[in-house]
Amino acid sequence: MNEFNPPKRILMGPGPSDVDPRVLSALSAPLVGHLDPAFLGVMDDIQQLLRTVFETGNRLTIPISATGSAGMEAAFVNLVEPGDPVVVCVNGVFGERMSDIVTRCGGKLTRVEAEWGRGLDMEEVRQALRRTRPGILAAVQAETSTGVLTPPSRLREVLTEFPETLLLLDCVTSLGGHPVEIDRHGVDFAYSGTQKCLSCPPGLAPITVSDRGVERIRRRKNKVQSWYLDLTMVEKYWGDDRTYHHTAPVSMNYGLRESLRLVIEEGLQNRFDRHRLNHRALVAGVEAMGLEMLVQPEDRLWVLNTVRVPDGISDAAVRARLLRDFGIEIGGGLGPLKDRIWRVGLMGTSSHANNVLMLLNALERILRQDGFQLAPGSGVEAASAIFDGQ
Ligand SMILES: *Cc1c(COP(=O)(O)O)cnc(C)c1O
Repeated sequence: MNEFNPPKRILMGPGPSDVDPRVLSALSAPLVGHLDPAFLGVMDDIQQLLRTVFETGNRLTIPISATGSAGMEAAFVNLVEPGDPVVVCVNGVFGERMSDIVTRCGGKLTRVEAEWGRGLDMEEVRQALRRTRPGILAAVQAETSTGVLTPPSRLREVLTEFPETLLLLDCVTSLGGHPVEIDRHGVDFAYSGTQKCLSCPPGLAPITVSDRGVERIRRRKNKVQSWYLDLTMVEKYWGDDRTYHHTAPVSMNYGLRESLRLVIEEGLQNRFDRHRLNHRALVAGVEAMGLEMLVQPEDRLWVLNTVRVPDGISDAAVRARLLRDFGIEIGGGLGPLKDRIWRVGLMGTSSHANNVLMLLNALERILRQDGFQLAPGSGVEAASAIFDGQ
């Protein structure tokens, strides 16, 4: 067997996104022990960098040693006890995943649903809160399966009437691409992942927990059912005690540290502006070609763009050609949106004008060759006009 030489790809799917060479180089630095003073310094740096990126002062701000889904699971297994009422907003795959985890924790689940591709109705959220008086309201800020944004400010507004309810927010795809402003919106538990807008390989799940959230975990009647994700133990490993719990993935933490440094070097506001601009250019290009976006303008994410597959065109065939002929990866639809949308990620390092123009050009050529009647306007020109007019 030969060594594995990955093909050259441009990652414009729902994650992972392209990784900056500085992060790749950090990943290959020599190992030190996970309790080596040098690594303890790395752990401290990461907590400090994460607070800046989450925009929070929360003491408990650490990466869980597993992917974004483990961040989700950590949130619920620590905060939910059997019989606890929980309201979950569901308008895509990740709201579904949250619901599944709540029932596995024995929580009393109430779902507030919206059609996949549409924003949630905050009046319905309010009604569900009035009916069930839950300990937790959970929502996905950036629903990667549909491209829909749920602004945390609107959740906070609804929650003013329910001071006892904690706000739990999935920031896996939003962190580093959209403002999350954890403290400003009073988010009590947020989790993310490394491979979306932080542009690090998958493998860690940054989380941040408010003092109220920590208090709720401390006051539990039962032990957290999961040993690995029990934050009362994990926090001792990341805190001053340094009590061995598991072996932190040393190299992954090198990578995360460098990717967070890149975010802060760029500046949060500049980074959000870049994601927004590239999104606007992509949408202008797509619409100039005569294609349609799935999501209404006011609910659209900047980091994950969903485009309707035109009638008579095979979703999978186009994606296969993009990969084979152009080395570009984009995603297909899931669940009820299978075969009906393309999911174009413009996350972190992948959110770049070159990528927008290259994808539009490739898509135009493939659709033309397939005999699809494109609108007379050129996608590349429409996108360029946005870049020129900035
Ligand atoms: C990707 C993603 C997850 C899951 O993260 P994994 O790293 O795949 O485990 C959870 N929520 C959202 C919104 C995501 O996009």
